[in-house]
Amino acid sequence: MLELIPSEVNVLVVGAGPVGLAMAVELYRHGVQCALIDDDEGPTPLNESRALGIQARTQEVFRQLGVVDQVLAEGRPMRGAGIYSNGKRIARLEFELGKIQSAYIHPIILAQSRTERILVDRLAALGGSVAWHTALEGFTQDTDGVSAQVAGPAGARREVRARWLVGCDGSRSAVRHGLGLSFEGGEYEEVFLIADVHIDWSMPDDEIHMELTPEGPLIAFPLPEPGRWRLVDTTGLVDAKEPDSIVARFRDLLTRYVAPGASVDESSWTSSFHIHRRVVNSYRVGRCFVAGDAAHLHSPAGGQGMNTGIQDAFNLAWKLALVLRGLGREVLLDSYNVERRPVAVSVLKGSDRLTRLVTLHNPLARSFRNRLLSLLSGLATVRRTASVQLSELAVNYRGGPIVAEDQGGWLAALGSGLEAARSQHAFGFGPHPGDRSPDVALRPELQANPAWNRLSSALTGPHHHLLFFEGLAAKPSTPTDWKTIEAMIDLKYQDIILQWHVMIVASASRSLPRQGKVLIDPDGSLHRDYGARSACLYLLRPDGYIGYRALPPDASRLRAYLERLLI
Ligand SMILES: Cc1cc2nc3c(=O)[nH]c(=O)nc-3n(C[C@H](O)[C@H](O)[C@H](O)COP(=O)(O)OP(=O)(O)OC[C@H]3O[C@@H](n4cnc5c(N)ncnc54)[C@H](O)[C@@H]3O)c2cc1C
Repeated sequence: MLELIPSEVNVLVVGAGPVGLAMAVELYRHGVQCALIDDDEGPTPLNESRALGIQARTQEVFRQLGVVDQVLAEGRPMRGAGIYSNGKRIARLEFELGKIQSAYIHPIILAQSRTERILVDRLAALGGSVAWHTALEGFTQDTDGVSAQVAGPAGARREVRARWLVGCDGSRSAVRHGLGLSFEGGEYEEVFLIADVHIDWSMPDDEIHMELTPEGPLIAFPLPEPGRWRLVDTTGLVDAKEPDSIVARFRDLLTRYVAPGASVDESSWTSSFHIHRRVVNSYRVGRCFVAGDAAHLHSPAGGQGMNTGIQDAFNLAWKLALVLRGLGREVLLDSYNVERRPVAVSVLKGSDRLTRLVTLHNPLARSFRNRLLSLLSGLATVRRTASVQLSELAVNYRGGPIVAEDQGGWLAALGSGLEAARSQHAFGFGPHPGDRSPDVALRPELQANPAWNRLSSALTGPHHHLLFFEGLAAKPSTPTDWKTIEAMIDLKYQDIILQWHVMIVASASRSLPRQGKVLIDPDGSLHRDYGARSACLYLLRPDGYIGYRALPPDASRLRAYLERLLI
């Protein structure tokens, strides 16, 4: 195995869990080869389902990675969650996203062991592979790279020189330890039990069920295979280790409080564990990075851990690829910590609140919680906010070091007349720099490619995408700066930035733009969702976030922004 790893690599990714695999796939998609090592013998064993929930934002990421179709085909969509007391439903949360535009609404339930295999296959299709049985033993870094000592099967050892090292090596991360990073936080005192079993009952299998038993909540997740469920005992009352005693505990809870006649058997996986809540103090030290569980650990409440880690990888890979190709500046790499660490802190806070709510021990507090849950779930805004939060679609990088905008502002707009003020007002309601770009539905029959039914299906590939909106005026005019911008992109950034013109109508009488492709927006919905009442532009990063926007487009300001990030 060891001889398969070149002695010099661009990136050494340590750990082939879901995060390391996503990292390697994304690097390959950006044309960067990397070495991916893991000290285990292969992916998570098939019977160990581990992380089950694939949130909407991760499905968007998986679409870019090229694996979403298989994930959707193998997984089970969750429509909502029901909360029960004495077998009676007292609250229901339907997963709904309100005004957020995405092709994916529902979380998908799929065993982590399956997700990993789908990613391993995708990596192989892109020309990569995992060196299993290969451990990182130590490393040192200097200004040019990292020298890593790796150990293969039968005690074989060698040194690998990498330009960059990414530690996706889980909660006990050797990379985190080697970098001397702190991992502040704590541990919940409760012991959580889980078991994947067959249950013979009539509960709907497109919902998560939480029964508020007098001992504490018992949660059931339907697994993709018919009749199979993941049970989670959050009461923290039983410290069972043996599979038989864990299953017996669930049988007891289920038949006593939920479904007296239900049979619980054929267990394929059981576990009892303590949960940590920790975040590393920095995601980057020199030429080394950490991602996923190596950087943050949270409670599984809300199903965010694996999702947050995969999005770490998706955030870092394009930046690293541009720097490695000699096209991106260091500021891109610095932004990884600035953008992703606050996300982990916020996820940790949310999952901590949820965990504390679920594990309340005081009977009075529990009864208050149960009533509150029933009350709050009746409110549409609460339901929507909870769904959006869990979907991770609202994560943003506003105010970060690599996102920016140029706009005249209110006073200047007012001075230019009513129409300019209206445009400025509309632009204010468009997505801001650092927001995820809304994935607006398109009329596929009007597009150059009938497969373009959403913005995301047109803007594929590992590029930046520059969108020129012509505006909603009856006779749109092309700002003079557009030609300058087109020529600049064409000359300097042709390999990095694809240009798109968003036009209300395309007719023979209208001349098509010289550069780039065209998206037809006949009813102006794409314009409206981007606040583009008059001519403006948006630059979308390869991870689908808005890097820059301008009203009106100004070639010299765009150039200044790009020169700060790109070479
Ligand atoms: C019971 C349970 C339920 C969960 N449910 C959810 C859920 O519903 N949703 C969710 O998002 N998350 C959930 N999680 C969390 C999720 O499993 C983790 O967040 C996820 O596995 C993290 O992925 P990772 O790739 O960062 O780390 P890991 O999956 O831990 O992978 C790290 C890899 O690094 C390798 N490695 C370690 N050290 C070295 C070394 N020195 N050299 C080489 N390789 C090394 C390991 O072998 C391993 O393969 C759950 C976790 C558990 C335990």
